[in-house]
Amino acid sequence: MEKPIIFTLIAPIFNEIENLPILYERIKNVMDQTGDTWELILVDDGSSDGSSDFIRELAGKDERIRPVIFARNFGHQIAVTAGLDYSRGESVTIIDADLQDPPEVILDMIEKWREGYQVIYAVRSEREGETWFKTFTASLFYRLIYRITEVKIPLDTGDFRMMDRKVVNVMNSMREHHRFLRGMSAWVGFKQIGVNYKRAARLSGETKYPFKKMFKLALTAITGFSFVPLQMATYLGFFAAAIAVIAIPIVVIMRFTGSQSFFGQATTLIAVLFFGGVQLISLGILGEYIGRIYDEVKGRPLYIVSESPNDFITNTDRST
Ligand code: UDP
Ligand code: MG
Repeated sequence: MEKPIIFTLIAPIFNEIENLPILYERIKNVMDQTGDTWELILVDDGSSDGSSDFIRELAGKDERIRPVIFARNFGHQIAVTAGLDYSRGESVTIIDADLQDPPEVILDMIEKWREGYQVIYAVRSEREGETWFKTFTASLFYRLIYRITEVKIPLDTGDFRMMDRKVVNVMNSMREHHRFLRGMSAWVGFKQIGVNYKRAARLSGETKYPFKKMFKLALTAITGFSFVPLQMATYLGFFAAAIAVIAIPIVVIMRFTGSQSFFGQATTLIAVLFFGGVQLISLGILGEYIGRIYDEVKGRPLYIVSESPNDFITNTDRST
């Protein structure tokens, strides 16, 4: 009988070949200090720089490494989701592969987990090596989400977090396609607590989250957890109707009393352009939600795996 796994670590990998060897060494170093069983799930999210081969090689050498290799790039949130699906540990930790999340913080998380906390999220008390633009937009984003959603997603937290098996089971039952994991793990409840850490600079390579992807994630977060954008159309509508009720009689009276104030087409043009804009924006917001509904209705799988951990078990025991 194999010993049950206590700790699962999940690292999503998208072209991280330079970081992988150091990631493995540092995680091994930290996890071996616990004296407990652990596994590291490396989810290869369609890398093209040889990361996949390195992961395969690592799995051949160390059976605690469990590779999940995707058929193509599905994105960071989906890669982590696959890791959660394959996880077997009593406690599951999500960590970035670029070593911006120092593996050493896991030891603090384990302490909290042993105290009985079920979600231990890492709070970035400081950030290193990121542009002011990224820091600024990120901070703006966290505050916006905090205000407009009902789920109180802790400020300045990323996906670096430890979750108890109970929480992971609930998360795994939530099969939405547009995923914002840190929101989902706040939404489930349970006993949550933060630990502070200093977010390091990326060890090597470029960020895999350019502005476009960040923006997409922000939209997913907002649409996934809030109706406020949809309700904005209603509020704007009431506001415009209120103006109309006041303005119409005033304009009519002024016209009949011979005022020249509304002479010409400028006023008409301005009103048409303004409300044309407002209506198109409202339609676009509707479209965002409808597109997401469409994606859910299609019911496609969240990801396609070309090689799963079971493919890497070399002996005859394929029971797990
Ligand atoms: N990542 C991924 N798929 C993607 C983009 C990123 O698996 O499509 C991984 C990436 O390899 C890293 C983590 O997600 O381990 C976080 O990405 P990154 O460090 O580029 O984001 P940032 O820290 O700059 O926000
Ligand atoms: Mg990073």
